[in-house]
Amino acid sequence: MRLYNTMSRSIEEFVPINEGKVSMYCCGPTVYNYAHIGNLRTYIFEDLLRRTLRRSGYDVKHVMNITDVGHLTGDGDDGEDKMEKSARETGRTVWDIAEFYMKAFFRDEEALNIERPDIICRATEHIDDMINLIKRLEEGGHTYISGGNVYFSIDSISDYGKLARLNLDDLKSGARIEVDSNKKNPKDFVLWFTNSKFKDQAMMWDSPWGRGYPGWHIECSAMSMKYLGEHFDIHCGGIDAIPVHHTNEIAQSEAATGKTWVNYWCHGEFLLMGNAKMSKSSGSFVTLPVLEGEGYDALDYRYFCLTGHYRSQLRFSYEALDAARSARKGIMERIADAKSEGPAATDPSEKAREYMAAFDEAMENDLNAPKALSILWQMLKDNGLSSSDKLAAAYHMDGILGLGLDKAEKKEETLDAELQALLDERTAAKKAKDYKKADEIRDKLLSMGYAVKDTPAGPVLQKM
Ligand code: AMP
Ligand code: ZN
Repeated sequence: MRLYNTMSRSIEEFVPINEGKVSMYCCGPTVYNYAHIGNLRTYIFEDLLRRTLRRSGYDVKHVMNITDVGHLTGDGDDGEDKMEKSARETGRTVWDIAEFYMKAFFRDEEALNIERPDIICRATEHIDDMINLIKRLEEGGHTYISGGNVYFSIDSISDYGKLARLNLDDLKSGARIEVDSNKKNPKDFVLWFTNSKFKDQAMMWDSPWGRGYPGWHIECSAMSMKYLGEHFDIHCGGIDAIPVHHTNEIAQSEAATGKTWVNYWCHGEFLLMGNAKMSKSSGSFVTLPVLEGEGYDALDYRYFCLTGHYRSQLRFSYEALDAARSARKGIMERIADAKSEGPAATDPSEKAREYMAAFDEAMENDLNAPKALSILWQMLKDNGLSSSDKLAAAYHMDGILGLGLDKAEKKEETLDAELQALLDERTAAKKAKDYKKADEIRDKLLSMGYAVKDTPAGPVLQKM
């Protein structure tokens, strides 16, 4: 297995700390709103990584946190508490908000065939672990108290910012963000707040420093070390976590233990909306339930994500999603055809096994999903393979792709064939300039629950 490591900025051979085992931590969602499909792209990438590691024979222990303590709208210590803001706007309690969006997140993950992490840990259930870690940092001389808050002093360590390769001399973070006059260094960050900017903060706990709540970064250090130990293999997240969140996680974890914390740092690139990162704060974002409401299957979105490498930006558009949907449909049809001819081969031919090996190799080479998908297509189109071989190879590949190929049903095809015939008839009518007939067919399709959408690649049907 070869993986790009953000720490070294290069693709490295993956060598686990303990032979045959992988310990992996992924930063989970902040549950104050629906996850948008950009967030979900990151979780799909992490799912591909876990599935590929398992395929390579590793016993993977995957831990993910749920940030149900509202962290602030800024990555630093600036901005508002996201959970409190959402509670205020909706009139619900912060606890209800967290519960509601956590459930919504798991529903999205399930619809996308994202496998559940082995351990899911909620920040609110690990406050003691965070307090103990802060105490350890305090004993090591890495903290100071100012304005009622406990801060981590980045000048207490020698290598702050090594992941992001920050040039500390150039940093004038105070220039961009709200300056916290309590900080000795603008890059210092809060470990424990007692002095809330917001009156009547709903989530507060007792601590040696007074009643308050944890800073955002400390939860990932405390929970990952609790479940994976003080030194583990892989830490994942989206690239936006590199300069602040992961940088601060490393600083406090390594300051506490005095040793390297994580061996491989893996980051997924952004999903773009237009030319900008899809984000909740910009207000320009799409959720999975919105796509589903428009007639897409969640797995059409998963397929769309597979068409881009996780380290490349991927631009979302409905045209691209339509293309992903018709490609996935094409695969499902081929699988349904093969299924109607009998079961998958238990002892696939050498040629089928060659395809499987090429697929695994593409995934093991820094998760090259676009290449892996092209190998699936090549295999399905290979006339030299029997249907049972094709099924065996496709199911093997789907163990990583997670497109639900085993669910392909021939019966879908009768309806599809009828729809396709109508669509073809409409295209022919339009070509013959018989617009009346074309409109009649469009209306018939509408009455069957399908809207016709003309795209540069030809007309496509959208389930309503
Ligand atoms: P959050 O719930 O805001 O903490 O984000 C959850 C995960 O989604 C984090 O790993 C982020 O880095 C990632 N993320 C946020 N925006 C995007 C985006 N536009 N594309 C891909 N990943 C993203
Ligand atoms: Zn984290």
